[in-house]
Amino acid sequence: MSEIVIITGGSRGIGAATARLLGAKGSCVVVNHRHSQASAMEVVADVERLGGRALAVQGDVGTEADVMNLFEQTERVFGTPTGLVNNAGIVGSRKRRIEDMDVATMTEVMRVNVIGALLCAREAAKRMSTRHGGAGGVIVNVSSIGALTGSPFTFMDYAASKGAMDTFNQGMATELAAYGVRVNGVRPGLIDTDIHASAGMEDRVNKVGAKMPVGRAGSALEVAEVIAFLLSPASSYVTGTMINVSGGVR
Ligand code: NAP
Repeated sequence: MSEIVIITGGSRGIGAATARLLGAKGSCVVVNHRHSQASAMEVVADVERLGGRALAVQGDVGTEADVMNLFEQTERVFGTPTGLVNNAGIVGSRKRRIEDMDVATMTEVMRVNVIGALLCAREAAKRMSTRHGGAGGVIVNVSSIGALTGSPFTFMDYAASKGAMDTFNQGMATELAAYGVRVNGVRPGLIDTDIHASAGMEDRVNKVGAKMPVGRAGSALEVAEVIAFLLSPASSYVTGTMINVSGGVR
């Protein structure tokens, strides 16, 4: 049986790299996206060219009805999912201190990064857990090294949302361990994707990359490789863990 993996935010960056990697392994990949339909369709085409099967499903992970539709479309086209990558995430607006934070940005960051990931995990658990007649599965939460550093002077609200993700990664892993579902996560460091430009910091990777312990930013593929490991049977005795993919930042 081939793997059926839902990747939230699979249209760009780390999610897209993960989709392509899983496609090359012959998986069925569901490429969720919110706005970037053209990018999602490119990822779908790449996955199919690489030997997998793929489906793009538009939807906002922070909206319950969209999450329900994401899982329903997955079941309709491929069957019960065996994996979920909780990858969709936003940093909010540009660099700021606590005094400069606005409630609209804070609320949106929490809605997408925390509520979105919890909603998707809930729907995955309902389908994968042997407690509900499922056949087991794997959830991978894409957190951030900011959960450990707190991201002072830049994205403290974002870092707090990822701290929440680290916490529910642990709780969910324990709840689901006896029911065939492994729950792990990755904490990327500075990774070269569009996310920095979306926060108005286009030059961040060039400016900060050399200051990383390994002397450079990471690539989306370097994170995808670790996500793929956590999804695979090679990590069958690993649950409740977060792996830093951060070039030595901790
Ligand atoms: P990215 O290049 O900005 O891509 C973000 C992806 O998330 C896009 O596919 C986007 O889809 C999707 N997305 C955003 N909001 C969504 C929503 N409400 N519903 C559904 N999809 C949504 O970001 P990235 O750098 O690959 O980041 C991926 C994950 O890694 C995030 O959780 C991020 O916090 C984490 N991370 C990244 C870094 C880094 O340096 N890049 C570091 C630490 C952690 P659309 O374009 O269609 O809206």
